[in-house]
Amino acid sequence: MVYSLRQQVLTEINPVMLTRIRVALQSRDALRRAVDFLIAAILFRLPPLLRSALFRGERHECPLCGAHLSGFLVLHRPFFRWCPVCRSLQRHRVSWLFIRQHILSVHPIRRMLHIAPEEALRQAFQRLPDIEYVSMDLYAADVLVRADVGWLPFASHAFDFIYCSHVLEHIPNDRAAMRELQRVLRPGGVALVLVPVWGKPTFEDPGVTDPVERERLFGQFDHVRWYGFDIVDRLTDSGFAVRVIRAGDVADVRAINRFGLDQADVLFGCTKPAR
Ligand SMILES: [Zn+2]
Repeated sequence: MVYSLRQQVLTEINPVMLTRIRVALQSRDALRRAVDFLIAAILFRLPPLLRSALFRGERHECPLCGAHLSGFLVLHRPFFRWCPVCRSLQRHRVSWLFIRQHILSVHPIRRMLHIAPEEALRQAFQRLPDIEYVSMDLYAADVLVRADVGWLPFASHAFDFIYCSHVLEHIPNDRAAMRELQRVLRPGGVALVLVPVWGKPTFEDPGVTDPVERERLFGQFDHVRWYGFDIVDRLTDSGFAVRVIRAGDVADVRAINRFGLDQADVLFGCTKPAR
């Protein structure tokens, strides 16, 4: 177990991970971050069946993996609620509920692009019948296509659904990325876009490149901006019709609590107008 954990940690160490560790060590809550990192490193390497047994209960339910849970796990950030079985967060669970209720209920997804894939959602998408699933990331090794979201190596109108969550806030030229998402989507198709959003207008400063300063200004060491709700204007300028979706659009108050959703999470449902 210890040997396996050490091997896993060593294979995950890369320049991005080293920067993450350096920034965490310089933060005011360095000790809590280190403890959370260790808990996550150990817990999420236990077999899913064992995690499911450890957290079994009837108070909560994960709509992504179907686990019945005594509670969700608070790790890494005080507002994060992890499913201890599939490792989904609030935003993944609300996305899945929206996809089930408002996309799959209308028509099946034939060909989809999943950018920077989250494991819990990857598994859920791949379980859908007759789907051609394409995963893409600039850095990760376990994807079908390695590419930059600003230069998508796909034909126009190639996908009927795109899931792109917590990517654009890392991209200096986010408008180019939005135009690419629009280009590769078929008319009538939907791109579900998520970014961290605050209550003020979008704030960005390309001159800020120091990871510690980026974390202070933009909330994470590798973010290049904080988005405001004016992201809707950028998405609209890129050719999308945009719908703002919240947890209340897919679940009532009781279900929001049961599924561990967050009223503050926002999804941008971006439809490419039919020609
Ligand atoms: Zn789950």
